[in-house]
Amino acid sequence: MNFDYDLFVIGGGSGGVRAARIAASQHGARVGLAEESRMGGTCVIRGCVPKKLMVFASSAPALAEEARGYGWLSADAGPFSWTDFHNKLTDDLDRLERAYTSGLDKAGVDIHLQRARLSDAHTIELADGSRKTAKHILIAAGGRPQRPDIPGAELGMISDDVFLMKELPRRALLIGGGFIACEFACILNGMGVDTALAYRGNAVLRGFDLETRELMTRQLQQNGIDLRLGLSPARLERADDRIRASFDDGSHGDFDAVIFATGRAPYTGDLGLEETGVRLKPNGAIEVDDWSQTAVPSIFAVGDVTSRVNLTPVAIREGHSFADTVFGGIPRKMDHRLVAHAVYTRPHELGSIGPTEEEARAQGPIDVYATTFRPMRSFFAGSDAHVMMKLIVCAETQKVLACHIFGPEAGEMIQLAAIPITMGATKADFDATIAVHPTMAEEMVTMREPTRRFHEATTDAAAR
Ligand code: NDP
Repeated sequence: MNFDYDLFVIGGGSGGVRAARIAASQHGARVGLAEESRMGGTCVIRGCVPKKLMVFASSAPALAEEARGYGWLSADAGPFSWTDFHNKLTDDLDRLERAYTSGLDKAGVDIHLQRARLSDAHTIELADGSRKTAKHILIAAGGRPQRPDIPGAELGMISDDVFLMKELPRRALLIGGGFIACEFACILNGMGVDTALAYRGNAVLRGFDLETRELMTRQLQQNGIDLRLGLSPARLERADDRIRASFDDGSHGDFDAVIFATGRAPYTGDLGLEETGVRLKPNGAIEVDDWSQTAVPSIFAVGDVTSRVNLTPVAIREGHSFADTVFGGIPRKMDHRLVAHAVYTRPHELGSIGPTEEEARAQGPIDVYATTFRPMRSFFAGSDAHVMMKLIVCAETQKVLACHIFGPEAGEMIQLAAIPITMGATKADFDATIAVHPTMAEEMVTMREPTRRFHEATTDAAAR
């Protein structure tokens, strides 16, 4: 059968663009790609990239305060113009979108800026009514923020909306205690917004190492964020020109903006999956095997739409592996077991790779090497903020299983720590490494004695 394309990709985000570009430019495939919104997808347009620039923007007052601690008597960040920042941000995102488009153009990929859905295992129906056939189809449609099912939920914003705000709210409430809630709480707080965060648990960032969760929870409070723990939202309603948020304990508060950061869901609705026999998991994500292949042999899926590890570099690697395997004859699988990640809060970030201490204890005997200290830079300027670094080592093999860092630039540090850990380095390899002095990261190679030893596997439910 003659197909219009060797590959048709649904979704122009990180995973879809990488797969399309590699299949076309490196493996000579004829590729079409449909994107219903903007090229670049969540990471570039309404996620990692604009978020990180907002983190930088929001850091200025703390930097000015630190400068005063170093003798710059009149250092002051001064007033912040959201409008100026936002105009520049918009221009930069336009530039990135153009770069994504031109990268695909150069690779010879046909871009269809419209919605696409499947009509059978080899056919795509575009919103303009035209149909395209392809030998292989890749679904890389991503995920969407979800609102909780409470009355008035439509009055709340989602993370997508934050990047489109025309002005900053005076008083904002974030609901949730995950990546987005913690990051946006620090951003808004840094930009001078009176910020509250309501989370239903006792310590934010469920799923992370407990010690780092406790440090992050304390940091949010020390930043002056009004942290309300153990609270679930019950309803939102209008109260004059504000939004009243009521909680399950009967309390309420009025805010200019309420932002839901209550997780994301795979964007699988109305893609025609049912017609083709693609199977979904209970959470709506597309079920795939280790090769990102669905139950229909010609259809593959990568990225958040498969809800494996929902991070940009993972989607990119999945997309690249798919293209190499199917079009390059180079079988490559994505290994999801060791994926480093970071939460970009201020002043300290959280960087993490491998199991939490609680998970590792349950898996087998471990030694934990941990250190806390006040880094010289902020300590000199008068801050009491503590850094925490932790290595989790398998007691039997001495392999370093995990590293958790709570500190300035932890995202940068964990990226480098991830290399030896991915290579299977032992604690002796870390010890053999000469320190770079004076740095924070040198602590990683100078922790000599275990802080704790757990030599009997245990599941400490209370610790989780
Ligand atoms: P997360 O899954 O990280 O967190 C969701 C939070 O919302 C949790 O604290 C959860 O509570 C809470 N929650 C869920 N449902 C409800 C509800 N009905 N009522 C009250 N609270 C609720 O999602 P995010 O939205 O923060 O981020 C989505 C994903 O985006 C992340 O998982 C990550 O994959 C990605 N991301 C990555 C970033 C990075 O790499 N730096 C930055 C931002 C996003 P509980 O813990 O009790 O379940």
